[in-house]
Amino acid sequence: MKVSIPKERIDQIVSKYGCTHEEAIKAYLEGNSEATRTFDDTVENILRKKKPGLLVKTHTPAEIKEHLDKYVIGQDNYKKRLSVAAAYHFAVVKKLGEISPEERAAVKRFRKKNTIIAGPTGSGKTYSAEVLSDLLEIPINIVDATDYTEAGYVGKNADDMIRELIDMAPGENKREKADFITRFGGLIFIDEVDKKAKDSGFIGHDISREGFQRAVLKLIERKFIPVENPYSPASQVQEMMDLQHGTKPDKSKSMISTENILFILGGSFQRITDDLESIVKKRIERGTGRIKEDGSITVTGFSSPEGDKTPKRSYKNYYPYAEADDYIRFGLIPELVGRAPIRTYVNPLSKNDLVRIMTKTEDSILDQYKFEFALFGIDIEFESEAIEYVADQAENSKIGARALVSVWERILTDFQFALPGKNFRKLTVTKKLCERPTDLLLEFLEKSPIVDFVERFRADTGILLVIDEECEKYLQGYAVEQNIQVSEAVQKLLSGARALNYMNIAGEYAVTIEMLHDEKYFDNLYVRWHEEQLGKTNLV
Ligand code: ADP
Repeated sequence: MKVSIPKERIDQIVSKYGCTHEEAIKAYLEGNSEATRTFDDTVENILRKKKPGLLVKTHTPAEIKEHLDKYVIGQDNYKKRLSVAAAYHFAVVKKLGEISPEERAAVKRFRKKNTIIAGPTGSGKTYSAEVLSDLLEIPINIVDATDYTEAGYVGKNADDMIRELIDMAPGENKREKADFITRFGGLIFIDEVDKKAKDSGFIGHDISREGFQRAVLKLIERKFIPVENPYSPASQVQEMMDLQHGTKPDKSKSMISTENILFILGGSFQRITDDLESIVKKRIERGTGRIKEDGSITVTGFSSPEGDKTPKRSYKNYYPYAEADDYIRFGLIPELVGRAPIRTYVNPLSKNDLVRIMTKTEDSILDQYKFEFALFGIDIEFESEAIEYVADQAENSKIGARALVSVWERILTDFQFALPGKNFRKLTVTKKLCERPTDLLLEFLEKSPIVDFVERFRADTGILLVIDEECEKYLQGYAVEQNIQVSEAVQKLLSGARALNYMNIAGEYAVTIEMLHDEKYFDNLYVRWHEEQLGKTNLV
């Protein structure tokens, strides 16, 4: 592209700043492109406010999937189903808004692609919906079923999720926001819907849980919801004014239809007794009788969802085979299952998946740590063995990728606390560092774990523990023997010494080997001291 550079502007810049011609040209070009960007942003902001929905684009399923792929590892089946459901739903809603009422009448009420998504905790069910909302310019409300009750006297009621969705839409007021949803649609993801399943062991009706499901069913089927909460002070005042003036409220203006809202119902469908997987397993077994203890099954006339051609494979995971009946047997009401025709699943995340989640996604947790440490001038680097170690730990936790955050926080929080401001420039995270973070940190800070404990103990209690060489050696030996960090060994054997603080001991206190040998030493000491005190008061 050719850019014209007015000579007189460049001369002005040169004379004003005393710079060279090249410098002036460079600054001019940068300033110009910055100004264009600001201009574009301002125009967009103004028009977006004036015409909400102006920028709502129709995305193809492949575009949506491509976006999900950048953030969500694995879970191909779910990502594909979600992409198709969202792409078609919003395209249909938009189209219906563009055609004449006569044409619209010709399109029979369209069948929505409401979806049930089942699979283990922490494996990307909700996260995919969050990532989807970053791409679509459509409000997406992710709610937790357990926050809601049927009637709303304790928790929120189901209608509130529609009003929350309205609040998320662009527009100057509630009415404009509601119109946006009518015009372009919205999405509600109800997480933990399985917690509202009827308990199969329950005799009679499980009123409140079934009630919630019925309330959601009404929303899915098409219900008119008051845009304002009828119990809010503003609505009550309006109602009083209408009564006083004898005016009739215009219902069409104050209500919104849930017709254009897509619903996704998610859950792990795990329960101590009869979870979804065991229900599916039992059904398959009844049909084929061929599942072995290790979960392997000989497949004849049974096609796997991935189209696997091998005749025998191991099915550790039964979610892919869940059918409508299985969800009903689990405790969802049949009408609700019937209204969610798309049923899909996520797989448990493997160690490899967890490694990829840490290293290959666009918002990877490791990049976030790099960014955070860099704020304090520290360059942090992760060795692959360290990443694998954390993946292992997370895999064992059984809470999926959710564990990654807590495992890394446990390892790095003390480093994030102690290193900034210490002139520390580079931190290489090794497997050893992950296994023994506290000891390693103290090593970096050139501090012995024992001295560190003594200092913290003194700051906390005012008591100075005196630990001689013999005790020090014992603590180090104990750590090796128990395969724990020295810092953990001191903590384990001496944290009981806190009792001294309650025994009116001040100043120095010498630790002996005898105290370290007996893990209950300080507890017993305190009990004896306490009894003595009681004895004294009784004497008085
Ligand atoms: P659930 O399946 O229980 O709804 P989430 O989707 O909320 O779990 O996952 C919890 C967190 O774990 C997410 O915020 C995300 O950071 C991470 N995560 C889970 N699964 C994946 C995945 N497949 N790819 C990338 N990140 C994931």
